[in-house]
Amino acid sequence: MRRNLVAGNWKMNGARAFAATLCADIAAGLSPRATVGDTDSSTPAAANSAADSAVDAIADSAADSTTAAPVAEIVICPPHVLIAGVVDALAGSAIQVGAQDVDAADDGAFTGQTSARMLADAGCGYVIVGHSERRALYAESDELAARKAVAALAFGLRPILCVGETRAQREAGDTEAVLGRQVDALLAALDGVDAKAQATRTEIVIAYEPVWAIGTGLTATPAQAQDAHHFIRARLAAFDARLADCRIVYGGSMKPGNAAGLLAQPDIDGGLIGGASLNAADFLAICKAATVAAAAGAVTGDAAGAVAGAAKNAGAGATTASTAAPATAA
Ligand code: PEP
Repeated sequence: MRRNLVAGNWKMNGARAFAATLCADIAAGLSPRATVGDTDSSTPAAANSAADSAVDAIADSAADSTTAAPVAEIVICPPHVLIAGVVDALAGSAIQVGAQDVDAADDGAFTGQTSARMLADAGCGYVIVGHSERRALYAESDELAARKAVAALAFGLRPILCVGETRAQREAGDTEAVLGRQVDALLAALDGVDAKAQATRTEIVIAYEPVWAIGTGLTATPAQAQDAHHFIRARLAAFDARLADCRIVYGGSMKPGNAAGLLAQPDIDGGLIGGASLNAADFLAICKAATVAAAAGAVTGDAAGAVAGAAKNAGAGATTASTAAPATAA
């Protein structure tokens, strides 16, 4: 079963006081544990209600394997200089910390860079690689992003590899060619890694982030996003069937008002959140939507929720956009 993931990318925003307040507000919003398994989730309404109380259980990620329905995993990715403070601020919660970038090298003469070893040592569990801003502003290639992902895996970090097309590429009908090229670079890099990294490669998270939707207020429709996610999953599975279990999250102006429709799609396993992650209420609302979607996925016998949930919970990725849950995003 793929567990929904909500990761907040603060980008180059915040300072220590801001970070401490935001972390405290988010942790407080994900207060003491409750488990979905303690509640009735046999109908969609009950599942929603279960998810309402179960949003608290996000704080208890360690217990997820004992619950009857999945809860979302939450990660905060602050700027590097704030990582230590955020790790301290979130100590005792189950919210994890990630970084926004990493060097592909283990260590050495790379002034200004930070290695995966250092990030793991600092308390990170995740790292974003290949974000479109790094590709566009710092000329990062598909190959470099892929090498960073592999470096992260080697030190026990889960990489969140961002892929996505520009508006021009979409309008030219090149979306799948671009996504295929970006995913293939990862697969080629994985081919060369040692057995230990091979064993952990289902820990890789792919973030489908259409460049035209990042920070613009434009959002892919649920159907557009589902199509892209389905394509990516099929590409991964064609390389190695086990990679169909990788989580694929959507990023690009995900907000409280559109999260539910996106997260209802069978191949969408969460969100990478930029602007909305800087506001505790908005971020918490998206976390809740991810838990509601996860709980709905555990419901059997209901059309939309069950279709989405069955495909997701089977890890199949075989449901096409035409059979996906209806698009309901705001
Ligand atoms: C991002 O930066 O990864 C992102 C998705 O930003 P936003 O949510 O602001 O579009």
